[in-house]
Amino acid sequence: MYKIINKIVDVLIVGSGVSGLYSSLNLREDLEILLATKSDLQRTNTSLAQGGISTARDKNDIELFIQDTLKAGKYKNNVDAVKILAKESKSKIIDLINLGVDFDIDNNNLKYTKEGAHSINRIVHIKDKTGEGVEDTLINRVKERENIHIYEYTYLVDIIKDKNKCLGAVLIKDNIQFNIYAKKVILATGGIGGVFKNTTNQKILNGDSIAIALKHNIKLKNLDYIQIHPTAFFEEEKGERRLLISEAVRGEGAKLIDIKGERFIDELLPRDIVSKAIFDQLRKTNSSYVNLDLTFMNKDYIIKRFPYIYSECLKRGVDITKDYIKVSPAQHYFMGGIEVNLDSKTSLENLYAVGETSCTGVHGANRLASNSLLEGLVFSKKASDSINNTIDDINITIKSVDKIKKDVNDIRKKNTKIVIEAIKENCEGFDDELFDYR
Ligand SMILES: Cc1cc2nc3c(=O)[nH]c(=O)nc-3n(C[C@H](O)[C@H](O)[C@H](O)COP(=O)(O)OP(=O)(O)OC[C@H]3O[C@@H](n4cnc5c(N)ncnc54)[C@H](O)[C@@H]3O)c2cc1C
Repeated sequence: MYKIINKIVDVLIVGSGVSGLYSSLNLREDLEILLATKSDLQRTNTSLAQGGISTARDKNDIELFIQDTLKAGKYKNNVDAVKILAKESKSKIIDLINLGVDFDIDNNNLKYTKEGAHSINRIVHIKDKTGEGVEDTLINRVKERENIHIYEYTYLVDIIKDKNKCLGAVLIKDNIQFNIYAKKVILATGGIGGVFKNTTNQKILNGDSIAIALKHNIKLKNLDYIQIHPTAFFEEEKGERRLLISEAVRGEGAKLIDIKGERFIDELLPRDIVSKAIFDQLRKTNSSYVNLDLTFMNKDYIIKRFPYIYSECLKRGVDITKDYIKVSPAQHYFMGGIEVNLDSKTSLENLYAVGETSCTGVHGANRLASNSLLEGLVFSKKASDSINNTIDDINITIKSVDKIKKDVNDIRKKNTKIVIEAIKENCEGFDDELFDYR
């Protein structure tokens, strides 16, 4: 039987990746917070992150980090956002350590690795499973908070709105429709990889918030800024997400070679340039993949530094200490999204967007490697700070909400279609065969 439950909270957060979890931890503990997620808590892109988190190593590195981010972003970035990102980076890493994140260290010092387009080694990591370490630690901290209520398998289907104000959101779990009235709502619903056939992302991420923003005329930005990662494990299409071979592998020295065994590109150039070089090579050699070679590296080092990639490739019949890894590009990240200001506020009053679903403009046209988790940390904290300072002035407004007639699967499919249409409209050359309409 279908049931409708009306509920009032102070803050509703949708999404349990780095940006949703971290924003919840930075909200005042006297606020009642509901954190909802469409699957289980861990099923996020955050959990999949391998390479690490960028940070300015010290004050002297801030300017160079800013320049690297701008250069990778083709100078289309929001410079003020980039400055904030770089200046506040180290404090976020220290905060994560204080929360219990166990980054790799050497003699009590953080270990830094390198990835494409970074001038120096400045990426902290937990072997090649950084995201899992961050996600699990943040979830543990969230579960310790009595003021944060977690709703898993609960799907955001719409926001509740009156004129230019967000009043809450409608979520569905099984046969229950929750009309959640909140003083502030944070969308932390991640990327759009699920609408592509060929993606490194969790397939469940189909851009629901983007579809909702389009429906309500909430401002969006840079819908054509879609990042293609150069090195996803090549295998025949199975309708599942593709295994990423982290840029950190190239950062540690792995070489890209074509099927004739020749190098064709500097592996540490920005992602868009390396992806284009691979596409050119695939055309020239009439092949579906190029090879990534790390067989010349010490075997024990490979297994210790990249245990996840090693074991995942082994499951697919490739021993990366002896065999080349066949790779080809795949959709990886969305630099565009719901337009927000430097406090992560959208164009709709009392609605915030953080993480990959938002567009602070910090990445410009091409994200610098390992800047995404950092953006999630820095700008979700901005959202929380803004909410902490302004929420006491807001009264809850109740507006009646109709029963949702469609089932969640139909809503998901419709949102997927809306997002695909928006991408096709904005991105030249993106045609139907790239997309997964399921
Ligand atoms: C394979 C891979 C490797 C990566 N490696 C790195 C890296 O090394 N460093 C780096 O900085 N970045 C990396 N990234 C990018 C980075 O992981 C993501 O951009 C970042 O984690 C996004 O965090 P988020 O909080 O915005 O969203 P996510 O972590 O993706 O979480 C999204 C959340 O929203 C929920 N959600 C979505 N729609 C709904 C809905 N309708 N109703 C309810 N809940 C919903 C989901 O269930 C999920 O909980 C990588 C990405 C991938 C895919």
